Amino acid sequence: MTQWVYSFGAGRNEGRADMRNLLGGKGANLAEMASIGLPVPPGFTVTTEVCTWYYQNNETYPADLEDQVKAGLARIEEAVGNKFGDHRKPLLVSVRSGARVSMPGMMDTVLNLGLNDATVEGLVVASGDARFAWDSYRRFIQMYGSVVLGVDHHRFEEIIENEKLDTGKTEDTELTAQEWHRVVDGYKEMVREVTGKPFPQDPWDQLWGAVGAVFGSWQNQRAITYRRLHDIPAEWGTAVNVQAMVFGNMGEDCATGVCFTRDPSTGENIFYGEYLINAQGEDVVAGIRTPQPMAESRAKPGERSMETVMPNAYAELVKVRETLERHYTDMQDIEFTVQSNKLYMLQTRNGKRTAAASLKIAVDMAQEGLIDHAEAVKRVNPAALDQLLHPTLDPKAPRKLLAKGLPASPGAASGVVVFSADEAEARAQKGESVILVRIETSPEDIHGMHAAKGILTTRGGMTSHAAVVARGMGRPCVAGCGGVSVDYNNQVLSSGGVQIRGGEVLTIDGGTGEVYVGSVAMVEPQLSGDFSTLMGWADKVRRLKVRANAETPLDAETARKFGAEGIGLCRTEHMFFDPERIGAVRQMIMAETESGRRTALARLLPFQRQDFVDLFRIMAGLPVTIRLLDPPLHEFLPHSDFEIAEVAQSLGTDTETMKRRAQELSEANPMLGHRGCRLGIAFPEIYEMQARAIFEAACQIGKETHKAPHPEIMIPLVATKRELEITRAQVDRIAQEVFAETKYHVEYSVGTMIELPRAALTADAIADSADFFSFGTNDLTQTTFGLSRDDAGKFLPLYVEKGIFPKDPFVSIDPDGVGELVKIAAEKGRRVKSDLKLGICGEHGGDPSSIHFCESVGLDYVSCSPYRVPVARLAAAQAAMAGGGDRTA
Ligand code: ADP
Ligand code: MG
Ligand code: MG
Repeated sequence: MTQWVYSFGAGRNEGRADMRNLLGGKGANLAEMASIGLPVPPGFTVTTEVCTWYYQNNETYPADLEDQVKAGLARIEEAVGNKFGDHRKPLLVSVRSGARVSMPGMMDTVLNLGLNDATVEGLVVASGDARFAWDSYRRFIQMYGSVVLGVDHHRFEEIIENEKLDTGKTEDTELTAQEWHRVVDGYKEMVREVTGKPFPQDPWDQLWGAVGAVFGSWQNQRAITYRRLHDIPAEWGTAVNVQAMVFGNMGEDCATGVCFTRDPSTGENIFYGEYLINAQGEDVVAGIRTPQPMAESRAKPGERSMETVMPNAYAELVKVRETLERHYTDMQDIEFTVQSNKLYMLQTRNGKRTAAASLKIAVDMAQEGLIDHAEAVKRVNPAALDQLLHPTLDPKAPRKLLAKGLPASPGAASGVVVFSADEAEARAQKGESVILVRIETSPEDIHGMHAAKGILTTRGGMTSHAAVVARGMGRPCVAGCGGVSVDYNNQVLSSGGVQIRGGEVLTIDGGTGEVYVGSVAMVEPQLSGDFSTLMGWADKVRRLKVRANAETPLDAETARKFGAEGIGLCRTEHMFFDPERIGAVRQMIMAETESGRRTALARLLPFQRQDFVDLFRIMAGLPVTIRLLDPPLHEFLPHSDFEIAEVAQSLGTDTETMKRRAQELSEANPMLGHRGCRLGIAFPEIYEMQARAIFEAACQIGKETHKAPHPEIMIPLVATKRELEITRAQVDRIAQEVFAETKYHVEYSVGTMIELPRAALTADAIADSADFFSFGTNDLTQTTFGLSRDDAGKFLPLYVEKGIFPKDPFVSIDPDGVGELVKIAAEKGRRVKSDLKLGICGEHGGDPSSIHFCESVGLDYVSCSPYRVPVARLAAAQAAMAGGGDRTA
């Protein structure tokens, strides 16, 4: 017999934290908390396997499920001493969804289930508080009605509004028991009208309705979108938790709250959170009343901290905080309720945090001895680290403050104002930066939040939906900006008499909560001491070296600042577009004879030499891989008639000749045309000039600094052994010439980019003439798939959406095709030359999952853009710890 139902609380904990696949995160952790002695109201979890069964069997349940649910409920009844549906002492439960990972989009929790016209009277007597009982009943009908029965929640609001109008009241809190009773009657009537059926009175019908709604919500659009955005498989399914209610809304000695064991924005080691006196469940998150701070040290004038208002419950919670952190060795996000001064724990999970907080918490916890250094390195997501390297507002830049809200998720962003998630997505797709402005956000807005550069809400606290989701996504967010009012109909927001229309620019600073009119200049990020501490720990465990792709002195300096151990790819063509040089390049292209080309190249030589002098000086003895000219010559010619005329004149020729030459050079398929080493073979003088510039620069720096650079000269687009032999011979000859001329000598190596399938497959032959291989995975991906990256944009998203490609192969290396070629080339190359140096220099060099792949095939280094160097260092450390898998060696 399959166990479909697992109990927790009141001394019977059938689940554990590591059973989240079966019980979902919420259920697994409720059981875990109960088993370490924390006060958890008893309940049971219906497993994710039931969800899977449900969808495999036409939305029906396993035959023995009902009995197991009944048994689970009987156990709750026994523990609490109340009975489900009992008219005098009714048991009320909550029904909560819970997938393996927390997933907005799933069914909202239904609280107070079990109430009906008879049990509400029992609750009146049992609690001695008629108002509380009728308020609970109306909350239940409202939640169940909207969440399970699909009644528009406005219909409920209307009825409350009418009751307030009739009685001349303005706040919910002013309504009496009789008035809530009337609201309940109104609700029931309305529900019958809308759904064509009476509101379910039988608690068992209510329970099965809610359970079905949780499973149903696994396949709703919001959940599907969320799963797609976060790579969550549909097969996982969700669990359902049924748990005895505890009441935070039974008076002034009751409360409910949400908190984090450390500050999720900064990582600071303080108890951080919000609570509300005399409130239930989602009141805190909904932003209806303003929640109060937990710790007195965080209370502003006029605020009432839990520490002062409920010292006993607070003290107990502080102990729980410590117990949880020691038990889970990670920052926890917890929910609690205090009923008549008694604390109950309702949820714990590893808390979402900003990149800055994740770094600080990992380093602090290691220093506190909760975890070791290696674990700290594993804790920080390399992609999140990327956020820390993003710009913030320039403190000196002029700015015009519009309003101030809560600093809900750090980072600064500028963009045009949009008021809907759909518009955010549409405009972002056109390449615009947008700031999504909402009164508050809900799970339907996820796609727009994802598309936006920043998010601004006028309502909600630090734990509101907008704040939590933005922190998780790494989007800057200012929440609860009450000084701004939003008018969706007229697409305008206003604050203190200033109006900003949709399409106008705003800047937000999610670190301070400030909102500015127009755009504000930004500055480079400052890296904390924790950053270098963690990087130091990462460097100790990583095997892969990390280099940067850099051409300019600025890039090279940035790369070194971030810890690059050399340059893995210097693309020389980027050096030719400079206005001072392009003339000489064009003169070379237009020349009809070799001697004409040599004259033009002689003009370029000093520039090119200076480029390398600068790079070698900055890289101070670290390896620098320089790729000789790669793109087809056509790319350097002018395009517009005006430019053509201008260039023709400066070169002393006529426009007709220019156009003819451009025609001659134009190719049907330039990517597969006359480029790479094919140019160097047709026009040896080009590579000779470049090689000369490199060696002259290297000798100059070597003499000057006594730290000889180690140039690695890389021949692009080699398909055959012979191509490399020819070009290598040229380079070697020039090296000897320069060494003789300068009476100086530097170590150098010559290798090739492996970017064509043929090169990969014949890597053993090629390795004969190569000192190193650098996998040019951008072109290798293009040539393996027969897919032009520049043209793929039109259908690639469709391919990813349909699952034809699991991921964009230009972002994350395709392990089965492109990766297999890399593996073959690495094996064949090393078989011939065991010390063949292997690296990767495509975009993939900065992508964590590609870095794991590089580790697994035993490459020596990865090279990526300078800003991604820290990401790569961390990912390389994690890959090393994960064990490279089958390593070629
Ligand atoms: P979410 O995933 O949206 O946080 P939860 O299932 O955690 O949904 O519940 C929503 C709210 O209801 C939370 O504030 C939670 O603490 C509260 N809640 C859930 N179950 C109970 C219960 N048995 N008694 C009291 N409050 C509850
Ligand atoms: Mg929910
Ligand atoms: Mg919760």
